[in-house]
Amino acid sequence: MIDKEIQLLVGPTALPNRVMNAMCHPAISHRGQYYYDVQKEVCDGVKEIFQTKQDVLSLTTSGTGALEAVIQNLFKENDELIVPITGEFGRLIQHVAEPYGLKVKTVNFEYGETANVEKTLAACTDKTKAVFMVHNESSTGVLDDIQAFGNAIAKLPGGGPLFIVDGVSSVGGADVKMDEWHIDVLITASQKCLMAPPGLAFVALSDRAWDVVETVANDRYYFNFRKDRKYIHQDRTVHTPATHTLLAVHESLKTIREEGFANVLQRHEALSAYVRKTVQSMGLCLFAHQEDYCSPTLTCISVPGQAKYYVAKLKENNIAVGGGKSPLDNDTFRIGTMGYVSMNDVVACMNVLSKIVEKNDAN
Ligand SMILES: *Cc1c(COP(=O)(O)O)cnc(C)c1O
Repeated sequence: MIDKEIQLLVGPTALPNRVMNAMCHPAISHRGQYYYDVQKEVCDGVKEIFQTKQDVLSLTTSGTGALEAVIQNLFKENDELIVPITGEFGRLIQHVAEPYGLKVKTVNFEYGETANVEKTLAACTDKTKAVFMVHNESSTGVLDDIQAFGNAIAKLPGGGPLFIVDGVSSVGGADVKMDEWHIDVLITASQKCLMAPPGLAFVALSDRAWDVVETVANDRYYFNFRKDRKYIHQDRTVHTPATHTLLAVHESLKTIREEGFANVLQRHEALSAYVRKTVQSMGLCLFAHQEDYCSPTLTCISVPGQAKYYVAKLKENNIAVGGGKSPLDNDTFRIGTMGYVSMNDVVACMNVLSKIVEKNDAN
């Protein structure tokens, strides 16, 4: 049997051939003009996707590393942070922040629901330094209304607390307008919708977030945003970056530009809508409680006790999907439509899945 896998993953995601080829490159000095030119184009490209006029920092780390970098640079011990939690990635923000001695107040919502603006704002006090939340909850397949949060927070006295958004699984696959939606800090990583391998994360900060960075004056050596910004202005990084991941992102941003960013977003919408419609027509249930806030970048399917069966059966048929994120790993699996995914890939997956559903002998 020919071994050609169709990948509908939730990160790291499928790589276009041209992105893989772009990495097939001799070593690059990160202290040389070629590197500087590539970094500049990548940061400018991410800036466009972030829809911001702010500088974009390129950090050599995973998404979680970038969350931690933000905690280090914008907070001090005892600072109060509100974290609305709708799934395991909201929980991750809590777990990253707590060891720094922050006063983390979680606002908990049932998994499968969106975060509620009023309930979250009701937890804010005049001591609250920031609201830090996930845009696209990758564990449940729910996309939160970041625009509504941003608008509501901006209307609070003094512009409200900082608004920090984990856009790791949304940026590049769902619309995020950093400046217009009053986002103070936006974070993403290379290996989800940006169709590149892991290794780089991107962070942008608003003017008032930069003021906070100055006040906090983080003196740690790595992830020092004040130093990082000085270097970014010279199109370089303080330490050795993930050079070949940068080449990959450089190429993937080109593919996004060629397809047209609006078309890329439209494709994510269309593919995820097709997945939702088709799995429900097979009698499967979405994990998200309502369809109108489902994620365009992944669909989480609820199959209590049978998730591993479905993932394994799809894999036997050369279709790779994401398993459930623990503790939902026995009860859900996730079909990624993020990044390099076409309608043909999705149709093939749905055809195979419908046969698995018909023949289901898991019980
Ligand atoms: C994948 C993901 C992360 C974690 O990123 P890593 O690169 O795995 O550290 C954080 N938040 C969200 C929403 C994610 O999807």
